[in-house]
Amino acid sequence: MAVVVAGSINVDLIQSVDALPRPGETVLALQSERLPGGKGANQAVAAARAGAQTRMIGAVGEDESGVWMTEQLSAAGVDTLAVVAVEGAATGTAYITVDTSGENQIIVASGANAALAPAMVDTVADADIRVAQLEVPVEAVAAFFAASPGKQAVRVLNAAPAVLEAKRLFASTDVLIVNQHELAVYLGQHEERATPQAALAARTLISRDDQLVIVTLGASGAVAVRAGSAVHVPAFPVVPRDAVGAGDCFVGALCAMLDRAGDARPTDEALLIFANAAAALCTQKPGAVPAMPLRSDVEAFIAAHPNEGRPI
Ligand code: ADP
Repeated sequence: MAVVVAGSINVDLIQSVDALPRPGETVLALQSERLPGGKGANQAVAAARAGAQTRMIGAVGEDESGVWMTEQLSAAGVDTLAVVAVEGAATGTAYITVDTSGENQIIVASGANAALAPAMVDTVADADIRVAQLEVPVEAVAAFFAASPGKQAVRVLNAAPAVLEAKRLFASTDVLIVNQHELAVYLGQHEERATPQAALAARTLISRDDQLVIVTLGASGAVAVRAGSAVHVPAFPVVPRDAVGAGDCFVGALCAMLDRAGDARPTDEALLIFANAAAALCTQKPGAVPAMPLRSDVEAFIAAHPNEGRPI
């Protein structure tokens, strides 16, 4: 039983300011912070905390940030043997500026993430669940999903951020996860609608009867859509303090739940309840990696807040 995540590893450098700088303007930071980040790293930590044996495949630079990120992953219980330090590259870095109203500006320098190559993802022999996102080259994800170890793994694609070229991966994906914004991009819609009914349009993204597409709807929970059925599970009633990382937490927790079930597949409703609960807990703490909840906390939260799905 193992979850293998192939994806991005970033350092998030966060500057808090009174007001975001205009072009040409210089402002002083009120506070500076360095946090672990990158969708791949966030999801790997979420899966490990949610109880799965988890391995990360990714690329960092030959720099202090790379050593620090590898340590952060290990400390969270993630196996980092397949995290490679790329010669001459810098570790991926997200430069984030946040003003007092919570508005932000983000510049991501992909650094070593852009060097994740097909040959580097070929270490998945014992994977039951393979999960990837799109902050690394689409070619690497394609190779990761195509690698043919002894057993058939479940391939989970969190198609985020939205990259139209990645639509070619959908046919070889078993579980596709998008938020309402990404769904609108893939469907070529100009408007996003966060209703369970609108999420049914995701059905056009799948081409096989055994595929599942999940649309996360923020405070409206999530919807699981199959060719012949769909279920909506509302979000848990929390007042979010910091929604950073909620989407990554949802994906990592869902993979851990899939992995735990082994051959006895959980129902789509059970998957969404567990992932929604983990993501709701994630919104209660600042940051992404530090906010990923433990499986025992997710289970206690579900027991205290009964929730159920409704077919749509
Ligand atoms: P992203 O972070 O990718 O934009 P969403 O906003 O859809 O993704 O959030 C992912 C998941 O986090 C949701 O499906 C839900 O389970 C949980 N979540 C997000 N916002 C809230 C909220 N306000 N209350 C409860 N749960 C939330």
